[in-house]
Amino acid sequence: MPTSALSEQGKSLLLRAAREIEVDLEPTLPRFEQFYRRLVEANATTNLTAIRDERGIVLKHFVDSLSCLKSGRLEGSLRVLDLGTGAGFPGLPLKLVRPELELTFLDATHKKIAFIESICRELNLSGTQCLWGRAETLGHDPAHREAYDRVVSRAVSALNTLSELCLPLVKVGGFMIAQKGAGVAEELEQARAAIHQLGGAVRDVVAFKLLGLEEPRALVVVEKTHPTPARYPRRAGVPAKNPLS
Ligand code: SAH
Repeated sequence: MPTSALSEQGKSLLLRAAREIEVDLEPTLPRFEQFYRRLVEANATTNLTAIRDERGIVLKHFVDSLSCLKSGRLEGSLRVLDLGTGAGFPGLPLKLVRPELELTFLDATHKKIAFIESICRELNLSGTQCLWGRAETLGHDPAHREAYDRVVSRAVSALNTLSELCLPLVKVGGFMIAQKGAGVAEELEQARAAIHQLGGAVRDVVAFKLLGLEEPRALVVVEKTHPTPARYPRRAGVPAKNPLS
């Protein structure tokens, strides 16, 4: 039976790649190992993520998630929402290295949220909340609308659609941090008007490469400068089908 434990080689790759982005993983390595084991085991029976190889999980999931810290805007006791978290990315690795973050995980797929709930319980993570639902609905819920200091998101949708999902949930003065790849410049061009309409202003695009990965990475950092008009987000599915332009 194949082992679901992170190998010695995997551990050293994880430590090394994290060090490259100035994250010392040594103190929390056992928690990453536990998360790894549970992810591999759960993924064998439930389709949680298409990335299944050890190197892929270490670099594309764990280290890429941690690279959000390069935004320089995730320090302190912030209320953070991970929108469309899937199997916990980028939110879970961020919570493991920054336990003071208060993290809310949101996903539209029940089995993914159930998985994260079980991990949070097993790892005894306090200051976490798991929500099953759609951003278009949550964005109109007074308990969540404009309630987060930060909304982070990876691989959910193009920046124009994503802005409509994320920005209504960000407090005025807070930030949306979107993880993007090679197409960032084009996505940004197509999202400028939407970001403006939704009350945002692009503050930063942090471009970099990660150890062992060819694909360039970028963080788009958008500040919420004004309240989002009440009509946004539009109803479920519309932001993707008919992005603001
Ligand atoms: N962020 C993770 C998962 C990306 S897959 C990662 O990078 O690995 C995209 C996820 O977003 C899916 O799990 C899907 O269920 C969720 N999702 C897509 N649209 C959503 C919406 N409108 N509201 C909430 N979750 C959504």
